[in-house]
Amino acid sequence: MKTLKDLWLDLFRPLSSFGYTEGQGTTRLSWSPAFLAAQDFLQQYAGKNGLHCEKDGWGNLLMTVPGKEDLPPVYTGSHLDTVPHGGKYDGALGITVPLAIARFWREKGFLPRRPLTIIAFAEEEGTRFGTPCMGSQALTGRLQGQSPEAFVTPDGCPLPQLLQQAGLKGDSFAPHLLPGKCFLELHIEQGRSLEDAQLPLGIVSAIVGIRHFMITVQGKANHAGTTAMKNRQDALAAAAAEITEIYQSALASQGQYVATVGHIRVSPDAGNVIPGEAEMSLEIRAAEDSVMDQAIARFKEFSHGLEQQYDVIFSWKQLDQIPPLPMDRKIMELFKDYATKESVPFQIQPSWAGHDSMIVGHFLPTAMLFVPSKNGISHSPEEFTSAEDIGQAAEVLEKVLMHLTME
Ligand SMILES: [Zn+2]
Repeated sequence: MKTLKDLWLDLFRPLSSFGYTEGQGTTRLSWSPAFLAAQDFLQQYAGKNGLHCEKDGWGNLLMTVPGKEDLPPVYTGSHLDTVPHGGKYDGALGITVPLAIARFWREKGFLPRRPLTIIAFAEEEGTRFGTPCMGSQALTGRLQGQSPEAFVTPDGCPLPQLLQQAGLKGDSFAPHLLPGKCFLELHIEQGRSLEDAQLPLGIVSAIVGIRHFMITVQGKANHAGTTAMKNRQDALAAAAAEITEIYQSALASQGQYVATVGHIRVSPDAGNVIPGEAEMSLEIRAAEDSVMDQAIARFKEFSHGLEQQYDVIFSWKQLDQIPPLPMDRKIMELFKDYATKESVPFQIQPSWAGHDSMIVGHFLPTAMLFVPSKNGISHSPEEFTSAEDIGQAAEVLEKVLMHLTME
């Protein structure tokens, strides 16, 4: 009998060819021919191994290992779509490992007590309409009430047409998630912390919260030659000091939070005029709301000090607030227990990126496992995780899925 790792490789290698071009990475946009062919391939594999397959109106593929009893299923899965010129592992890993587990169980003759449903989500990356996690949002009914016609791809194709071309029928926004026991997602880390710690496994504690702000600095535009330095109200100089403070504070937080100023607009934006206004974005992410509260309070206080120093006015506008999503403690404990039993070293860490788990986590107890990303690279053809690391994570996931489906 083959090992779980080898069963996974047997499935992952052929799946990786869908949308792959040598030197160009993987481009498997939702509902594209490569995406649909990959879905067909998965469906055939699942069918051959005794799983029941169905698609919802959105194009999420659900593959179910029947249980001995008609109980709410354990859900697992991830997304099948990629970004343009992305990697093979992002998303596909969280589908192929559970499918290999289903095959492994079949070969072992293991029948779970409750069903195990493996979901291959469509459109997690947000490539088609600029909105991430749409597949999990559709599945959980979060898009209900919105008009499908309102979603149009960058090249002008409306959603209903795309779904029709993909052969999908029915209400694309109708919820399709049955009452379930829980949801588990295996994903690449997309960062460097596991590699830096030389660990093969991360147990996710929370998906970080995100807040966005627009900060406007009001100064006074004036002649760049005749205005003495002491008389200036330079909005950009003040903004630069604030950006440096934000950067240095985030650096000093040692991983408590990350903060980014990624956009700045200066007015009047001329080389011989003192900037009269600067508008900049701020994004902050942390696993705890209190950490973000404190950091923002400090940034604001610092900006008030700059108002006097530079004779400007700072205005802060919060644009949104996505709270952190803590992972289910009970499932985290199971991950820890089985990783310890299997002698797989691990760390507990937040997820700094969003995932389908972030959506499903509002409906079901949810937990995530991470495997290392070489050099922290993802969304790139260079994305890589060793089969050894994946094999170890697969062993832990298999044991935990077995445990949960027997409950
Ligand atoms: Zn992903």
